[in-house]
Amino acid sequence: MKIAILKERRPYETRVAATPETVKKLKALGGEVTIEAGAGIAAAYTDQAYMDAGANIVPDAASAVAAGDIVFKIQRPMSAAEGLDEIGLLRSGQVLMSPLGALTNAELVQTLAGKGVTAFALELIPRITRAQSMDILSSQANLGGYKAVLVAANTFGRIFPQMMTPAGTLAPARAFIMGVGVAGLQAIATARRLGAIVSATDVRPATKEQVQSLGGKFVAVEDEEFKAAETAGGYAKEMSADYRAKQAALVADHIRQQDIVITTALIPGRKAPVLVTEDMVKTMKPGSVIVDMAVEQGGNCPLSEYGKVVEKYGVKLVGPANLPAELPTDASALFSRNLLNFITPMVDKETKALKIDVNDEVVKGTLVTQGGQIVHPSLIQNSG
Ligand code: NAD
Repeated sequence: MKIAILKERRPYETRVAATPETVKKLKALGGEVTIEAGAGIAAAYTDQAYMDAGANIVPDAASAVAAGDIVFKIQRPMSAAEGLDEIGLLRSGQVLMSPLGALTNAELVQTLAGKGVTAFALELIPRITRAQSMDILSSQANLGGYKAVLVAANTFGRIFPQMMTPAGTLAPARAFIMGVGVAGLQAIATARRLGAIVSATDVRPATKEQVQSLGGKFVAVEDEEFKAAETAGGYAKEMSADYRAKQAALVADHIRQQDIVITTALIPGRKAPVLVTEDMVKTMKPGSVIVDMAVEQGGNCPLSEYGKVVEKYGVKLVGPANLPAELPTDASALFSRNLLNFITPMVDKETKALKIDVNDEVVKGTLVTQGGQIVHPSLIQNSG
């Protein structure tokens, strides 16, 4: 089992798919690890630290891919037009383990199938108990939710906690978290730790208790549709136009009184829902801050811009391009452990080689191409 790690080259990316800790563990599993020189530098993992852990360092991406029969990545492989032809470096029979955005990047999946690459899309890891330790979306969203609050605090011209000083009392900030998944829960906890008065909303009823247990106030239209708004996989359903209108009215009233709004609402495989309209932004106080964590999926606010901080109607809108990458050391550590936990059950204890059991639930959920074909059920349905 030969594993290759590339330096990530997409804009805003600073993470790396293995750390010295996981290199040691991969070696203990019987693997050999080859790392492109400088792959971990932006995340504070030096080539020397990788070498000390037993990895081979090679000068460029081509030599790393050539040395591996399995390639680990944090961002889907690039085409030549995007910078470096990482896709071109992959060869038939090679295994790729990476987030691929497989449900929305049909062309990439087709190309990987055409090249005979066995590709696993890590964003599709099923949300079952056994796979929690492999769940890259959760590990990265958790850090993203934390960082979003720090970004908001840094952008805000006031403080979060109430502060009594000889010159008078400063009022606490009011923070509203929209979307209470993994990122939202961490944002609530972080904003509370900083001393803000926190409220939150979501369309999944299970979140109400979670918000309250973290000391936040739950704000939502709790009708019959709301009571049924969760898929078996634990994700949000797309809500009806009627529900969205009722929710928008409630939110419009609440948002006027908020200083900080952090939006995290996503629906898998779809554009993010608009939760904060331009009219709502107009009603917010000057100096308020919105951090739109969904900006990459189209945004929860139409005014936010990817990778930028913009000011509209006196409100600062932050559109973070890659929040986990702003915590590259920890984000890489968790992502790498997710990958280690993902590959470990697939390694044959005797031969120390990768043995892919297509009947395994986690494999079935993530394997998108094999033997020159697209094999994932969701993608076969989409193309059919
Ligand atoms: P996500 O990133 O897909 O979405 C973020 C949140 O936005 C979700 O809570 C969603 O309900 C919410 N949302 C969507 N549309 C909305 C709207 N119109 N208004 C308000 N909120 C809206 O979600 P996620 O963070 O990946 O996790 C979703 C759930 O899955 C969580 O309950 C999480 O605990 C669970 N989960 C389970 C496992 C497991 O069992 N292995 C692993 C990870 C996550």
